[in-house]
Amino acid sequence: MSGVNEIRKTFVDYFVGEGHEHVASGPLVPRNDPTLMFTSAGMVQFKNLFTGVERRPYSTATTAQKCLRAGGKHNDLDNVGYTARHHTFFEMLGNFSFGDYFKDRAIELAWNLVTKHFELPKDRLLVTVYIDDDEAYGLWKKIAGLSDDRIIRIASSDNFWAAGDTGPCGPCSEIFFDQGEGVAGGPPGSADEDGDRFLEFWNLVFMQYDQVAPNDRRPLPRPSIDTGMGLERISAILQGVTSNYYTDLFRALIRASVEATGVPAEGPTQASHRVIADHLRASSFLVAEGVLPSNEGRGYVLRRIMRRAMRHAQLLGARDPLMWRLVPTLIREMGAAYPELVRAEALITETLELEETRFRVTLTRGLGLLEEASEGLAGGDRLPGETAFKLYDTYGFPLDLTQDALRPRGVTVDVDGFNAAMQRQKAEARAAWSGSGEAATETVWFGLRERVGPTEFLGYGVERAEGAV
Ligand code: ATP
Ligand code: MG
Ligand code: MG
Ligand code: MG
Repeated sequence: MSGVNEIRKTFVDYFVGEGHEHVASGPLVPRNDPTLMFTSAGMVQFKNLFTGVERRPYSTATTAQKCLRAGGKHNDLDNVGYTARHHTFFEMLGNFSFGDYFKDRAIELAWNLVTKHFELPKDRLLVTVYIDDDEAYGLWKKIAGLSDDRIIRIASSDNFWAAGDTGPCGPCSEIFFDQGEGVAGGPPGSADEDGDRFLEFWNLVFMQYDQVAPNDRRPLPRPSIDTGMGLERISAILQGVTSNYYTDLFRALIRASVEATGVPAEGPTQASHRVIADHLRASSFLVAEGVLPSNEGRGYVLRRIMRRAMRHAQLLGARDPLMWRLVPTLIREMGAAYPELVRAEALITETLELEETRFRVTLTRGLGLLEEASEGLAGGDRLPGETAFKLYDTYGFPLDLTQDALRPRGVTVDVDGFNAAMQRQKAEARAAWSGSGEAATETVWFGLRERVGPTEFLGYGVERAEGAV
């Protein structure tokens, strides 16, 4: 049985063998691309090749791309720990044609890899095509010999792919693996398609358009191909397990978390170990690219991911900062493929430990408050927005941390109330300001306070207080 590292290599070697240029992963923080917060798919680094703005010596390529879906159009943060297939950070394997081959060759290459090299049985495979894409439908019949009931036409946006609100996009065709009757869920397009039985693992995008503005979609100069296969998902399939978290890579991370906490991997603590393993990867890869926790933009996404993981560490009973202790295991598993992790090991370790140390005291106090405030709330109830805001403002709880904490009980947060409380506080702070009367100074000061946030100051206070204890 192949490990994750070999499966990545098998994919890339196959496409190199088919004449594709092996291109290194682009960064998680896209370069020169203000439209995206993070790289959410393999095509991001190639946008200008699809539109024809840029030319390179090759017209086909293959990559294993670092992706993060925790903000923006693609956001899977809330899925982590609850589904078997979603991560914040994951690797997307892809092959690309920049005006070179189109649908027929893309389908042929994909079918070959999946059935001949990965040896997946044909009777466990299913594909979808965009509702009016008769061409793709016909090609799947011809090339793969799939019967009509295994080629499903989908009308929804699930079969029209775009990285962001603008940029190259197009209809797509996806490959699903049937994990068998033992797993709940229906085929794509059915009412219970969100179940895990039919696992989507490869998306072939037929790049045909450039979305220039919301109502302005133009044809690309030359039709192109962009595909994305989740490494974690294909690994689960090839290793014969029904969750990404049972692959060799995640098993190693979860084992480290189990050893550090002494709490079992399965049972009621399972989700927490999974969240920790997932968020460890996301946090470490972000820090390796120089993103540091802060109260705005990308840094705030990182902080939210880190603090969310810390609450789960707390749930597992960890008395001291936990995340930084798992870094060596991550590096052992992924350092060879991603040397930036090795280079940044010291920075990653320090950043994780510092953030956890600083947040620890307010986390405990905030959780106490949350417990009191939500006492008596049950499934379907909502926590008042004021309370969620107090947790945010005084204790440094990102909204999603509070939501995540309440979710197992079926309790939600009044998000409108939370936003209203936030606006009210900003307005009050402005009104209470009796400063110099110089408009410019006030603008700068309030801009700064809103960006840095009150909890940032509290954080330093807490550090001092801790030192005194
Ligand atoms: P899903 O429907 O399961 O949320 P998706 O349709 O959003 O997946 P795509 O945008 O089509 O995913 O991305 C291409 C491939 O990348 C998917 O088929 C899957 O293998 C992988 N992938 C997407 N999102 C994630 C994620 N959050 N974690 C792990 N792998 C993912
Ligand atoms: Mg998705
Ligand atoms: Mg999908
Ligand atoms: Mg998809």
